[in-house]
Amino acid sequence: NRQWLLASRPHGAPTRENFKLVEQPLPDVAQGQLLLRIVYLSLDPYMRGRMSDAESYAAPVALGDVMVGGTVAQVAKSNHPDFAVGDWVLSYSGWQDYAISDGSGLFNLGADPEHPSYALGILGMPGFTGYMGLLDIGQPQAGETIVVAAATGPVGATVGQVGKLKGCRVVGVAGGPDKCQHALENLGFDACIDHRAEDFAEQLKAACPDGIDVYFENVGGKVFDAVLPLLNTSARIPVCGLVSQYNATQLPDGPDRLSLLVATLLKKRARMQGFIIFDDYGSHFGEFYQQMGEWLAQGKIHYKEQIVEGFEQAPEAFADLLEGRNFGKMVIQVGES
Ligand code: NDP
Repeated sequence: NRQWLLASRPHGAPTRENFKLVEQPLPDVAQGQLLLRIVYLSLDPYMRGRMSDAESYAAPVALGDVMVGGTVAQVAKSNHPDFAVGDWVLSYSGWQDYAISDGSGLFNLGADPEHPSYALGILGMPGFTGYMGLLDIGQPQAGETIVVAAATGPVGATVGQVGKLKGCRVVGVAGGPDKCQHALENLGFDACIDHRAEDFAEQLKAACPDGIDVYFENVGGKVFDAVLPLLNTSARIPVCGLVSQYNATQLPDGPDRLSLLVATLLKKRARMQGFIIFDDYGSHFGEFYQQMGEWLAQGKIHYKEQIVEGFEQAPEAFADLLEGRNFGKMVIQVGES
């Protein structure tokens, strides 16, 4: 059983040296337990926070512990009445080949799910995050303008496509021409701006002639700086993530813009609200799963994943994700599917 352990806490971007690959014997399966063979491991930006011991909404991974993470697995052995060998499950088993479970916290995907890995993306935590954050906090109304960055990732792509289904104008922000083209052609966004462009702020303004009603905050940094002057009266800002800052070791240089932010919220009567998906909306998962499943079956939602072959690649793939060197939902293929 191969496992990636957290070896040290990163300063800045995580590197391979922060992880340690070990091999352990397969654990025994007691009565009431299952042995899970992990097929897909999800890599997500929040894992950067778990590698750090700074205070957050969840406890850090202890040094020497298996890295945490969402996984899709097949039941390899079952001493549990509710699960049969061969069943697919969504579990939270972390960066390893096999895991023991007592069944609690598992979501049974059945014997033959069409796309098992979708449970880590569009039909799982990131899709749920985009859906609830947009609909509950963003409150989009037909004809309004939504802006979302990390537009081709699993959260941003969900926000934009659900926004389109609600009749909004959707403007994406993404890194590079290929991602922007994907947002326009496959995801149906009305515009997509490359945040690396010199004149990014001007381009964003031109793409939002009626201002911004909902800014779904995924990245922070200079994208938010460019959004702030474009906010309309009564704008809503679901604060989902700040991935541009996760590898930062100190506050950015430059003038303190806190008073500008607060003055804008005041003058525009704007509402900014953070949320942590399962803590705040866990009871809505079934409703989301059903609705998103329908939209997928009807071809109304497009989904792109980047499946990286090889468990050994996980640390580099994770570092890539934080720097935008992923294209679509980042998943590691751990075992044979
Ligand atoms: P993605 O797959 O979209 O990966 C992160 C993306 O962030 C990169 O691909 C990159 O896209 C973009 N990015 C990185 N650095 C920068 C930068 N400096 N400026 C602009 N964009 C940058 O991730 P997810 O869809 O999984 O997650 C999106 C956000 O949602 C994250 O902030 C995450 O932490 C948050 N989240 C929050 C949850 C909650 O409960 N609050 C739950 C799940 C996710 P590009 O190349 O296009 O710039």
